[in-house]
Amino acid sequence: MKESKRLRVSEIFASLQGESTTVGVPTVFVRLTGCPLRCRWCDTAYAFSGGERLTIDEILARVSDLGLPEVCVTGGEPLAQAACRELLATLADAGHRVSLETSGALSIAGLDPRVRCVMDLKAPGSGEADKNLWDNLDHLRPHDEVKFVLAGRADYDWAKDVLERHGLARRATVLFSPVTGELAPSTLADWIVADRLPVRFQLQLHKILWGDARGK
Ligand code: SF4
Repeated sequence: MKESKRLRVSEIFASLQGESTTVGVPTVFVRLTGCPLRCRWCDTAYAFSGGERLTIDEILARVSDLGLPEVCVTGGEPLAQAACRELLATLADAGHRVSLETSGALSIAGLDPRVRCVMDLKAPGSGEADKNLWDNLDHLRPHDEVKFVLAGRADYDWAKDVLERHGLARRATVLFSPVTGELAPSTLADWIVADRLPVRFQLQLHKILWGDARGK
């Protein structure tokens, strides 16, 4: 039998989903290695290199062993590996509910319709705003989510402008969250309420529970 394609994988583990509309749901995470971006506040720099080369079949077997229906493929930037799309389809074929966390810097066109895409738009405070691929907004489906991680008022004003100019809340669920240690959660929450923004505020649940521990 022909061997399935290989991907470089940093870690596969079970935890609670820390972000997005499935926050709190027990989930298997498949963290793929590598990212072409360098966000100033990145908390997964350990996934920039290293990892293990696994076939899609081996990844599927490890996911199955962890015994959860929900699977999140994350990184790094998972779409930087060509076989990522095949992995997503294989996981969905196996009956998993699949989400993809992506930076917004690589094309999401033609993603498997069963996959829920959680796509960042990088605000200026990340240092990577020039990498946003704006054409991606045309490929959002109603079950997708767009995430803004905000370091301060300038980022918030930028995100609010993007939200309004592109009618983002009509295209997908929009998530706003603060950069840990830079923007007080209550301050961001107050701004959202004052402006009556059609977004969902979120904190990174896994950080509240476990800090920066790996595999959580
Ligand atoms: S896109 Fe994600 S993994 Fe890549 S540098 Fe930014 S925060 Fe880190």
